[in-house]
Amino acid sequence: MKIAVIGSGGREHALAWKLSQSRHTEKLYAVPGNPGMADIAECVSGIDIEDNDAIVKFAKDKEIDLVVIGPEVPLTNGVVDALSAEGIKAFGPTGKAAELEGSKVYAKLVMKRYGIPTARYEVFGDAGRARVYVRQMRQPFAIKADGLAAGKGVILTKDADEAVAAIDTIMTDKAFGEAGSRVVIEEFMQGEEASVLAFTDGKTIVPMVPSQDHKAVYDGDKGPNTGGMGTYAPAPVITPDIMDRVKKEILEPMVEAMNKEGRPYKGCLYAGLMITDKGPKVVEFNARFGDPETQVVLPLLKSDLVEVMLACIDGTLDKTPIEWSDGAAVCVVMASGGYPRSYEKGKEITGLDAAKADGDIVFHAGTKNVDGKIVTNGGRVLGVVGQAENIKAAVDKAYEGVKKISFDKEYHRTDIAHRALERL
Ligand code: AMP
Repeated sequence: MKIAVIGSGGREHALAWKLSQSRHTEKLYAVPGNPGMADIAECVSGIDIEDNDAIVKFAKDKEIDLVVIGPEVPLTNGVVDALSAEGIKAFGPTGKAAELEGSKVYAKLVMKRYGIPTARYEVFGDAGRARVYVRQMRQPFAIKADGLAAGKGVILTKDADEAVAAIDTIMTDKAFGEAGSRVVIEEFMQGEEASVLAFTDGKTIVPMVPSQDHKAVYDGDKGPNTGGMGTYAPAPVITPDIMDRVKKEILEPMVEAMNKEGRPYKGCLYAGLMITDKGPKVVEFNARFGDPETQVVLPLLKSDLVEVMLACIDGTLDKTPIEWSDGAAVCVVMASGGYPRSYEKGKEITGLDAAKADGDIVFHAGTKNVDGKIVTNGGRVLGVVGQAENIKAAVDKAYEGVKKISFDKEYHRTDIAHRALERL
């Protein structure tokens, strides 16, 4: 099969890496891809991935059999609808189903309507009324812009003054643009966070190995949030009992709810969860694979990813056995010093060949090839993955890989997977 991966980050590199191992893959394209993906795929530049027509034209020209969409914006734009209308198989939800991620107001409404556990909330389209509300209610809150804000549209507030400031940032200053025309004001949930990604064909749901992301920039989960400084899987906070509840109380009712809503959901359903003392509750749903969760979950998948994705599209997931490795995987993100605030780009990266020669898994997230040299080109630059028989060995392997690679002002957290290690 000819397969195309849409996107250019570490998640897309991990997807392409796993797809390249499939016995069905004859030719792999990455649009636009990155220098790491160039080793396993033909990278195609010059196509605007937020333009459905451009993607459809590319897929038709190259006679692509399967398109795998990484990021959320093409999904909420309805690229899967556009490709399917031309008879091209595409992995991911339709535009209407992807609204589960595209609008927090819609996601909360569906959860409320179908009794899926999540934080209590109110929605406001008027800043004045939102300010009055937060002054009256018990603190703290999570205050969220309704629309897509590249993972940055959530402000956690301790008291009423902070809450009012957050409402002003989102609604009055429009820090996240039109995404902030409405806000969702949620009760703050206490607990430990984890992610459960699931494959679904709209009927059957197969959860992947649970994982945990480290969003804060500094060790000890301190400092501002980032796109993710590292991940590990499996996350022991999701015990078999909790996983059972996640399936029965969250994933199954959600897929059923989307059918009842007339927006059947197929693809990867990502549940961001808070494990509270009353059980798992939804923080958010995403309509795609997580980044950097994918970088640790896919290495643990033993089955052929192409077969799993086709089963999701064709509605045959119930007949498709999916196997996972018993081991663990850890991803340490190597970032540009200064990230998530300002940082420099264009620093030459050394040691990639040595890591490759040792068989280390290194996913590129923000790199660029300049005259044959790989240089930094983003905040999160690389994800170095250690896979081993247990979490401790996987942590050691990931950090051994990190040691081999360097660039000026490189920064990484040194405590990825600490919550799992503390439980040992
Ligand atoms: P979201 O983009 O909705 O996942 O929110 C980003 C981050 O904010 C989450 O990963 C949580 O750490 C935090 N967060 C969001 N909503 C809540 C909530 N209701 N209670 C506690 N933390 C939250």
